[in-house]
Amino acid sequence: MKALKALFNGGLYLPSEKSQTLNAPVQTAADCPWLFVPMLQHAGTAAEAIVGPGQAVLAGQKIGQPADGDSAAVHSPVSGTVRAVEEIRLPDGTRAAAAVIENDCEHRPADGINVPCEPAEVTVTNFTERFADWGLVQMQANGMPLHRRLQIAREHNVRTVVVNAMESEPYLTADHRLTVEQTLLVALGLTHICRLVGAEAGIVAVDQRRPDEAALLDKLLADHAEEHGLMLEAAMVDNRYPQGHELMLLKTLFDEEVEVRLSDGAGELASDRAGVCVLAVGTVAAAADAMLFNRPLTHRVVTVSGEAVGAPGNFLVPVGMRFSDVLDCCDVSPTIDRLIVGGPMTGIAQADDQSVFTKQTAGLVLFSAAMVHQPGPCIRCGWCVEDCPVQINPALLAGLAESGRWHRGFAHHAETCIECNICSYVCPSRLPLLEHIRKLKRAMARDQQARAGERGPA
Ligand code: SF4
Ligand code: SF4
Repeated sequence: MKALKALFNGGLYLPSEKSQTLNAPVQTAADCPWLFVPMLQHAGTAAEAIVGPGQAVLAGQKIGQPADGDSAAVHSPVSGTVRAVEEIRLPDGTRAAAAVIENDCEHRPADGINVPCEPAEVTVTNFTERFADWGLVQMQANGMPLHRRLQIAREHNVRTVVVNAMESEPYLTADHRLTVEQTLLVALGLTHICRLVGAEAGIVAVDQRRPDEAALLDKLLADHAEEHGLMLEAAMVDNRYPQGHELMLLKTLFDEEVEVRLSDGAGELASDRAGVCVLAVGTVAAAADAMLFNRPLTHRVVTVSGEAVGAPGNFLVPVGMRFSDVLDCCDVSPTIDRLIVGGPMTGIAQADDQSVFTKQTAGLVLFSAAMVHQPGPCIRCGWCVEDCPVQINPALLAGLAESGRWHRGFAHHAETCIECNICSYVCPSRLPLLEHIRKLKRAMARDQQARAGERGPA
């Protein structure tokens, strides 16, 4: 098993803040009376709802049909009755149609769900349809449907599939618990995904502070490697943040650097250009679960933690469950001032606890008022520049965004920002630098699209 030092520049060793939940086994969240299951839980096109008010549904029944090749199906996580299909607010602030389901708490499964299957029946020619039908998506922020991700990997003849189990964000431990509790699923998922994309090697990247997790994986991977003629291994990787970002993993695992383009994600990704497909550990386990037991993606493991949480934990939650339903069981402080979806570095602050878990929600982190700081003026200390892992100037880019000079973002390589948020984290003036840089990047992307439109098709 490899033990690797971080090879990228900048970055920081962040306080882990994981001790509250690191050793807490995953517990199934208590039944909630209502679910609001969004038709859009991935980057791409929303599914089309195929149920209506008054219709009875079973757990695992398809309720949303993929609309096109950039879409994935949606299934009911529970049995019950659909009461409405209405628009709701998603954790990232966008709006989408959702099936409002009254849960009968009887957990009656749909026909054919939860039955052992032969994964070899999923082949290179049918995985697109099967994965879309199981509703498999990349279980990370802005992840695309999994079948689309694997198609792109195949088109680029990737040689290696990397499973990202780094979980670099402080507080979050859902991926760690999933990896130690479902190690076999992770190993099987990696084996079959390598087969489907035609890769000859698979690596599971694990935080170097978790040697037990790495050793467990390495042993199982060795067994599967022999059986399937693949090179499979675990790698213990330096935890300097943002090591969990796929471009930083490419650098540390293969000493490869790839050019980042604003168009990445539309038919190509930077990692594919290096011959590597990086997938989150939850995605790989969900794919194995679907292939082995015909289980569509309806639940995920999340962490609920932070200073304002008296009873933190790792929970298996159904998609469409309101945040408030799980927080009711977590002894949350009445002085809570900030609720963040995802980790504190890259997550999204919420106005309230009424949004819902989706396939891409890694966890909730809650802070009390004492932890929240007000921004001040830039004091030109240069810390943001020093620690930026892609060596751009966050203070300068934030200034361009604030003054509307977004066209100058290209000259200062704003598109290479990986949105790790280190710049805002180290800024002594608490400036929301990443927020400004995201605005700048959006304006640059709009400009690029407009120019492409003016030129017309090639
Ligand atoms: S500019 Fe982007 S890549 Fe650099 S530290 Fe800030 S968020 Fe990270
Ligand atoms: S870290 Fe903050 S205060 Fe220091 S230069 Fe960057 S933006 Fe200015």
